[in-house]
Amino acid sequence: MKPPRKLHIKSYGCQMNVYDAQRMVDTLSGEGFVETASADDADLVILNTCHIREKASEKVYSELGRLRAAKEDAARSGREMRIAVAGCVAQAEGEEIIRRAPVVDVVVGPQSYHHLPDLLRRAETGARAIETEFPAEDKFAFLPQPRPDAIRARGISAFVTVQEGCDKFCTFCVVPYTRGAEVSRPVAKIVDDVKRLADNGVREITLIGQNVNAYHGEGTDGRSWPLGKLLHRIAEIPGVARLRYSTSHPNDVEESLIAAHRDLPALMPFVHLPVQSGSDRILAAMNRKHTVRDYRKVIDRFRAARQDIAFSSDFIVGFPGETREDFSATLALATQIGYAAAYSFKYSPRPGTPAAEMRETVSAADMDERLERLQGLIDSQQSAFNKAAIGNTVDVLFERAARNPGQIVGRTAYLQPAHVMASADIIGQVLPVRIDSLERYSLLGELAPSAHPTPAESSQTTTGA
Ligand code: SAM
Ligand code: SF4
Repeated sequence: MKPPRKLHIKSYGCQMNVYDAQRMVDTLSGEGFVETASADDADLVILNTCHIREKASEKVYSELGRLRAAKEDAARSGREMRIAVAGCVAQAEGEEIIRRAPVVDVVVGPQSYHHLPDLLRRAETGARAIETEFPAEDKFAFLPQPRPDAIRARGISAFVTVQEGCDKFCTFCVVPYTRGAEVSRPVAKIVDDVKRLADNGVREITLIGQNVNAYHGEGTDGRSWPLGKLLHRIAEIPGVARLRYSTSHPNDVEESLIAAHRDLPALMPFVHLPVQSGSDRILAAMNRKHTVRDYRKVIDRFRAARQDIAFSSDFIVGFPGETREDFSATLALATQIGYAAAYSFKYSPRPGTPAAEMRETVSAADMDERLERLQGLIDSQQSAFNKAAIGNTVDVLFERAARNPGQIVGRTAYLQPAHVMASADIIGQVLPVRIDSLERYSLLGELAPSAHPTPAESSQTTTGA
């Protein structure tokens, strides 16, 4: 029997890339690969790349520079190392990678990684293999299921892709070009995936998609199901204690999703709802197809359905033409909503997008200043939100041993890390924790004396894990 070959994957960017990396590991484990933590002793290194901002793209080329040295070292010791570039940079710049980086053996776009074994075989003949077409077939139909030991090793929280691609064409964004048109997976396949995860100890499922609430997959009745109906179905699966979904677009929040938040205790009251800007003029230039008022109405609908709901968001500062007044409107909107967390980015022109052609650019100094102010505001909102937990008893899903000996760490409904001193037996359980203090972004507390699962989660807490 051949010894296993070593595979190292480095993933950049969004949660969909994290999920894709796991599926690549699952695919290649059927080819005799096992994962290794270091690139230096790997037989195959895959960079699973992100193209969303320039910085993210450029990281790939600097990493390839480092890998060239590792590949030369391997060759000197009589070992062959192959290097593959996957993900959205591969999709957008495949030919350029081949030209600029002779060290690369394989380039594979995000819709084609089920072809990795074939591409590797081609590379083993000395050819350089590139595949960045959008294939006609659905990659999910060809991807092997993860092995039970792989699921267990990945922990109690898992992502499941339910939707991919985007048809929205925001003027700043590369996703519609790198991930292709919007497609939804059928309900039955998603349910099978979730059952398999839950049977192997996963307690929290996050349904992911570039535009997850545009989900409209084929239901078990042959009709198209919206995300809310899918969430209802998944909440019935034994072992699933918590459900989340990400990332949502404000225009696709339909009634079944609101109803899911009202009706499903397992659906966590924490919604990532990017707004990008608080100025209608900039939202129009971004082609977001909603106004600030529309966004606020959506927030109100969620809040009416579930009182304890909290929000996070994405913001872009320095979009072409953004004036001081536009930026003040963004600060005003963030202040009105009051976020529990948010990501903010400096606008980065992406080749091939309409915004990259816009001339009224914002100076680097203005962008820096605006980013700092917005991040300052969001930080203070996040601290206030976290401080508000002190003195309360909150449900925590325990995930793993913390770095401090004896401590176990888990997450609250709002994804705040929470630490308690306890035995590792509690990993995989949802238990009430009395929060005593806050250390940076982490909550510290102790298991409530009556530590037992909440009624909402108890039926699942005893199964699965
Ligand atoms: N589909 C989600 C939505 O509609 O908001 C977002 C997906 S995108 C992968 C994640 C975030 O990256 C966006 O919400 C946006 O804030 C940011 N982003 C996308 N393109 C960008 C660009 N060209 N410059 C700066 N930030 C960008
Ligand atoms: Fe990009 Fe999201 Fe806009 Fe689609 S909706 S183009 S993924 S920002």
